[in-house]
Amino acid sequence: MRIVLLGPPGAGKGTQAARIAQRFRIPHISTGDMMRAAIQSGSDLGRKAKAFVEAGKLVPDEVLIDVVRERLGRGDCASGFLLDGFPRTRAQAEALDRLSSEIGCALSHVVEIRVAADLLKDRLLKRGQIEGRADDTAEVIEKRLMVYEEQTRPVSSFYAGKGTLVQVDGVGTVDEVEERLVKALKKR
Ligand code: AMP
Repeated sequence: MRIVLLGPPGAGKGTQAARIAQRFRIPHISTGDMMRAAIQSGSDLGRKAKAFVEAGKLVPDEVLIDVVRERLGRGDCASGFLLDGFPRTRAQAEALDRLSSEIGCALSHVVEIRVAADLLKDRLLKRGQIEGRADDTAEVIEKRLMVYEEQTRPVSSFYAGKGTLVQVDGVGTVDEVEERLVKALKKR
């Protein structure tokens, strides 16, 4: 299975991605986790990404596309993968299309977790209190939700236009949402 999981910040994407990847025994590739790890380690990539991540802005496309190209090229992706947090712009989606045909691995599923905008802010503020993520502050949350609407929403339209997008209701318990996702993934 080669899955792209879409959804706004606060939709529960990371939690669900980890569960789904474990269930289907495929690597969970979270570009957000990769950015945080790079920043933590102080690598070149981390230095490039830091200011963007902390401001709630997107790291430039060319940086992310290189990171994902390298990651998908590793051996553990041969049997499939779940991408969480990528693509986040139309240019990234187009690059992923090209990359998929380059390495002969078309996506099998594009699933979007949907949650109404007014619930997202509360969820993210709560996560900020629990996990202490630097970009879960009121101001940066506003920015990330705006960035999502402007730059990432077109990614859903891109896949909807191709007829590959499946949408799943993200309101409910973690188990309920997981079951909906599994059902959607088994359908195709
Ligand atoms: P996330 O954990 O997925 O919410 O990602 C945290 C932050 O990492 C985002 O707010 C961006 O600054 C950066 N990031 C993660 N994935 C991408 C991507 N595909 N394109 C650009 N920036 C990204």
